[in-house]
Amino acid sequence: MTDQAKIEAIVKEVLAGMKGTHTCTCGKSAGKAAGGAIPKTSRVAMLTAKEHFEIQEYPIPEIGDDDILVKMEGCGVCGTDAHEFKRDPFELIPVVLGHEGPGEIVKIGKNVTKDSAGKPLGIGDKVVTCMIFKDNPDITMFDLNKQNVGGADVYGLLPDDDNHLNGWYADYIVVSKGSTVFNVSNLDLDSRILIEPAAVLIHAVERAKTTDILRFNSRVVVQGCGPIGLLCIAILKTMGILNITAVDGNEKRLEFAKKMGATATVNFMNHKGIEALAGAVKDSFGGYFADFAFQCTGSPVAHANIYKFIRNGGGLCELGFFINGGDATINPHFDLCAKEITLVGSWVYTLRDYATTFDFLARAKEIGLPLDQLITHKFHLADANEALQTNLRQDGLKIAIIP
Ligand SMILES: [Zn+2]
Repeated sequence: MTDQAKIEAIVKEVLAGMKGTHTCTCGKSAGKAAGGAIPKTSRVAMLTAKEHFEIQEYPIPEIGDDDILVKMEGCGVCGTDAHEFKRDPFELIPVVLGHEGPGEIVKIGKNVTKDSAGKPLGIGDKVVTCMIFKDNPDITMFDLNKQNVGGADVYGLLPDDDNHLNGWYADYIVVSKGSTVFNVSNLDLDSRILIEPAAVLIHAVERAKTTDILRFNSRVVVQGCGPIGLLCIAILKTMGILNITAVDGNEKRLEFAKKMGATATVNFMNHKGIEALAGAVKDSFGGYFADFAFQCTGSPVAHANIYKFIRNGGGLCELGFFINGGDATINPHFDLCAKEITLVGSWVYTLRDYATTFDFLARAKEIGLPLDQLITHKFHLADANEALQTNLRQDGLKIAIIP
């Protein structure tokens, strides 16, 4: 579809939604109803035991004046979901997982007119949710630069509740007061599915920039070429960074790293010992170590190794450990002090990063980065178990669940 056709389609949808409002003259309903029929029930993939989703069906509740009913159109499978699916580390079972979902607004309470960035919001708009601030529902993105997800809740990682529609692995989700929600109708579906993981990298790059070491002509190492590392490379590329070396042990992923903007790749399987590996990274930059490095794996050994790739006075952003992956052994003298490395840690994102992410995804598409190819598998909701098993086997890159 051309951009023009897309805009026309959106306008049509919005108009259809408005028509729905005007024909609804009962006056009793708190919300505006969509033109299309909304079923009485919604399926959810309920994780009822470790490695076991059960498809259950629940009534769609009344939508209050401050609530939104969203029809799921796709949702990525995250490493966090895989951990919860396999081991229940968050002790959430029974739970409806899925936090990387976009969807379409099908019903909206009369008090909801704008998204968390101040954009108008209505039926037919495509939205994503970010964090939920129950105690402070008036929070907007502009006074929230510093608060990351650690202080908030997220749909798809909530205990089961009375209406059960609080995760994206479902046909419908109820977005209630205090949630942050963004109108992302201008992005295509695959881009919308990638918003949440991409925001993690936008945040990491913002953290990296605080070191003042990351520059246009920096030599940058990205270690780990799963979805996170590949998105990191894509972001660096859209920023105009021209010397990016990707490090991974999987040749296929390294090939993809090049499509995302890596200028060189190093397969650690081909180099025995850290000296040889560091030498290969140095060679990839024409005889220089990296100015800056992003560590995107969950491996403590990879954390220890990455210091060896960085020049004196260089910088490092560690973002691979979303959850506890164990202790890493480094030599504080050689790795940190003597080299005067500036190290920043990064964890999830802020609301502001979400807004930046929308711009990044649009720009990445404009310059032809094949982000859509990151989504290698799509499974229907009914096959949620297979989707998660595929993620655990590390087949493919990003796995998505679709209705
Ligand atoms: Zn995620």
